[in-house]
Amino acid sequence: MSMAASSATPQTTQKRDDDFIPYCRHSIGDDEIREVVDTLKSDWLTTGPKALRFEQMFKEYVGCKHAIAVSSCTAALHLALCSYDIGPGDEVITTPFTFASTAEVIEYRGAKPVFVDIDPTTFNIDPARIEERITQRTRAIIPVHYGGIPCDLNAIGKIADRHGLAVVEDAAHAVGSEYGGAKIGSHGNPTAFSFYPTKNMTTGEGGIIAVNDDEIGQRLRVLSLHGISKDAWKRYSKQGQWYYEIHDLGYKYNFTDLQAALGIQQLARLDAFNARREQLARIYMDELRDVPGLRFPRWYSRWYDGEAPAGTKSAWHLFVMLLDNDQVQINRDEFVEQLKLAGIGTSVHFIPLHLQPYYARKYGYKRGDFAIAEQVFDQLISLPLYPKLTESQLGRVIDVIKTLIGKHRIE
Ligand SMILES: *Cc1c(COP(=O)(O)O)cnc(C)c1O
Repeated sequence: MSMAASSATPQTTQKRDDDFIPYCRHSIGDDEIREVVDTLKSDWLTTGPKALRFEQMFKEYVGCKHAIAVSSCTAALHLALCSYDIGPGDEVITTPFTFASTAEVIEYRGAKPVFVDIDPTTFNIDPARIEERITQRTRAIIPVHYGGIPCDLNAIGKIADRHGLAVVEDAAHAVGSEYGGAKIGSHGNPTAFSFYPTKNMTTGEGGIIAVNDDEIGQRLRVLSLHGISKDAWKRYSKQGQWYYEIHDLGYKYNFTDLQAALGIQQLARLDAFNARREQLARIYMDELRDVPGLRFPRWYSRWYDGEAPAGTKSAWHLFVMLLDNDQVQINRDEFVEQLKLAGIGTSVHFIPLHLQPYYARKYGYKRGDFAIAEQVFDQLISLPLYPKLTESQLGRVIDVIKTLIGKHRIE
């Protein structure tokens, strides 16, 4: 909300606007602004020295061998499927409980997304249900680390190995998450991160792929910029800088130095951002976990009780709660509306993809196909969670939730 806009509105409205607690807010500080201005005053705006520096920093942060910064997480996922030559006739297994990107990149390749229901503890794809969906055509699995909670990469990796499948991780929510005592992105699979403004760190728009395999890393690099191989001219030609060869059908998915300027400063603050997110999540649990009528992913309770699986850590991208409709007589949509009226922005992550008209129409999916994802979706609300959320705002969110639950509890 700009100053000009709010000063032009009547007092009462202005108060209301100031009071509104948005669902999400990014945190851009003076260091980010300085770094962007420095780039603007430099001779390089697009992919250049800062993009390279950001990739180096990210590699060190995550602990992977290669990091290819790209224009979005969607682009990163798309390129990962390209790098394995997944195409028409192939099937890729993923979760329906995700954003559009995860499945649309499978469609971009002319392959078929095959959904597998989620685990009610983590809301991640249920490894125990993957094998029954594997066919002769299956080529890859795309697990999504939902809200930052790491998927069981061991179990998924074993299934992939048994059937010769690639694993591509959608880590849009999981920058800073850990599995097996190591950061998500370090386990070898191509892993796609997002720097969209709602995510744990932002470059305005942007993404990155972490990977350990040299050949896939090289392929991703070439595909990210028109399929042009600079190494080819370095190695094979005597021509000058102007010469290039197109070795593959590539894309215009490069990451600019302006994005990198933001990324360099945001990455430096990421651990502090994530620690703050975790702190706020703990307060939500302190206050809400024993409220009759509310439920949470079981993973939250385990974490709260200090019993999260050893070596796992969530980046706390989301904090979600579920209405227990055996105990409260208000549905999710109405609850969201009431929160909005009380000045609190929320969201719903996610509308299961199989219920979206495109996928329902194309593959004949319908309600009942993925019962757990559907049930969770029907009851779920994503609450405000970001470093700029103050404790007094958090207190207000909690108070309003408690009041609403009290009003609608079935006695
Ligand atoms: C945000 C998001 C993406 C897409 O990220 P972009 O950088 O906007 O392309 C992909 N998957 C999930 C689960 C997301 O939440």
